[in-house]
Amino acid sequence: MKKIQIIFLTAMIAAVLTAFSTEMNAQSIMGGHYKKALIIGAHPDDPESMCGGTMLMLKNQGCEVVCVYFTQGEGGIPGKSEEEARAIRHQEALNSCAYMGIRPLFMTQVDGRSEITKERYDEMKDLIAKENPDIVITHWPIDSHRDHRNCALLVFDSWRRLDHGFDLYFTEVMSGNQTLNFLPTSYVDITPVREQKIAAYLCHKSQNLEGNIAKYHDTMEGMRGREYMCQWAEAFVQVLWNKERSTK
Ligand SMILES: [Zn+2]
Repeated sequence: MKKIQIIFLTAMIAAVLTAFSTEMNAQSIMGGHYKKALIIGAHPDDPESMCGGTMLMLKNQGCEVVCVYFTQGEGGIPGKSEEEARAIRHQEALNSCAYMGIRPLFMTQVDGRSEITKERYDEMKDLIAKENPDIVITHWPIDSHRDHRNCALLVFDSWRRLDHGFDLYFTEVMSGNQTLNFLPTSYVDITPVREQKIAAYLCHKSQNLEGNIAKYHDTMEGMRGREYMCQWAEAFVQVLWNKERSTK
């Protein structure tokens, strides 16, 4: 190996070790310190798809978990009007949350035409302030779906306006198709609740999600599991913030 290659390799290893030591300094999601979690997904089935296992793991250790639906899937059933689709998908979300034993909360954005405006910034900030969670999980903002991006950016803006008063994590949904360029910093072993996660996800019957299990979930959660040395895992990026060193 040439000297330049050795220097490059050493720099790469140092960068990886630095990244991991940063993660170790941050709180782990399952450390037992979180009392209330908000999981904010753009469409019915997104919260369950991206981190249904983590929702169940948190709930099982006594954390209050609230599942927030940013839209109600109005554009998600071919041949149905927005009103018809909303009614069907609202009920499916209720069914999924009832199965998980988790409280649902519905916002007023519309599937396929969500917006970022001054009023929408306030709406998201006010909802989070009212619920007062100590952890929020939402979409990773680099995503092929506009609603996912809008949801992520509104949450991120709220986090800043609420003085970074809760821990913020981004997570993935259908990576390689929707989520893009996602490199996790945190993991949750969801093996004990993986079957329940899939059952909750399949409560969204109108979406015919059975085909997604093998195509996306087995692949994604299996790969994250191997990265985390367990069978099934969900993966996250924690947005790090150091209040002491912040200059705003
Ligand atoms: Zn979605």
